[in-house]
Amino acid sequence: MLKTLVAALSVGLAAMTYSANAQDKGTIGIAMPTKSSLRWISDGNELVKALEEKGYKTDLQYAEDDIPNQLAQIENMVTKEPKALIIASIDGTTLSDVLQKAADKGVKVVAYDRLIRQSPNVDYYTTFDNFQVGVLQANSLLKGLGYPEKKGPFNIELFGGSPDDNNAFFFYDGAMSVLQPLIDKGDFVVKSGQTGMDKVGTLRWDGAVAQARMDNLLSANYSDGSRVDAVLSPYDGLSRGIISSLRGVGYGTEDQPWPIVSGQDAEVPSVKAIIAGEQYSTIYKDTRELAKVTAELVDDVLSGKEPKVNDTKTYENGVKVVPSQLLTPYEVDKSNYEKLVVDSGYIKKEDLQ
Ligand code: BGC
Repeated sequence: MLKTLVAALSVGLAAMTYSANAQDKGTIGIAMPTKSSLRWISDGNELVKALEEKGYKTDLQYAEDDIPNQLAQIENMVTKEPKALIIASIDGTTLSDVLQKAADKGVKVVAYDRLIRQSPNVDYYTTFDNFQVGVLQANSLLKGLGYPEKKGPFNIELFGGSPDDNNAFFFYDGAMSVLQPLIDKGDFVVKSGQTGMDKVGTLRWDGAVAQARMDNLLSANYSDGSRVDAVLSPYDGLSRGIISSLRGVGYGTEDQPWPIVSGQDAEVPSVKAIIAGEQYSTIYKDTRELAKVTAELVDDVLSGKEPKVNDTKTYENGVKVVPSQLLTPYEVDKSNYEKLVVDSGYIKKEDLQ
């Protein structure tokens, strides 16, 4: 009996190995920016999983936010002639030469989450609706402040993402499409006067840089007893720096309650901060879905099928409009985090304890 079972099992195993080999459709290179933010770790893992399920091998590399490092990693991938490259770039303008080499070898290129600029050799772009991310961030500040029922005027300070990341401009422009008319009306006041991505951008999305800038903004503009009511922050890692700075000057008490602070990525420490009432909101982008959609797109392209795209107008990369597949972002705050990020399995309930 046992012998029969073992024999049957080994036949089954042999068949599985055989089918895995039969399914080998070549290698896909995956270049991710950094492991310093949880989202990119999960993006990488999910991409590997989705591509392996489709019969591809994968070569996943992280560049720790170092531009020459990422370039070297992609150059190395190209010499190995992968079927396709999936790239979440650090600086979206520095890859033109290596992408030309890739194109010369017939390697398909998908810009992942962040648009690659100044190159004709970007075949597709998979991302979220980045302008809408900014709109949601700004609207959540209004909701947190109780505007327009509460009239203000409200003091607000603005933070942008990394100026070498195309997304940062979409987030900022989306947010300002909501905020600028209210600033023009006088209902919102940027006391520091610092507006525009050239003034509010945060290189490499670095939380410490945001914290230092918030320290300066507070000491230069709010030492007169006035309070900052809201802070536009485009990413949870920056929000945490901003909140530390605010804590340092006494916010987060009954007398001096937290300003309304936005964020993005639904990172575990920030969802915890939302539950604790320190950060008001974040933007949830289901990166599992982005990885799945990207793997499907790559598989379609490599199988000669027409891949699914839903935007052929928005993402002009300086050379051409890159056909894009945009997914939907969602605003998350204390009232809906359980439904959106816990019930969906994006974050485990116990990780928030
Ligand atoms: C991504 C955001 C992320 C940011 C910092 C952007 O390109 O779209 O989700 O918060 O980079 O990593």
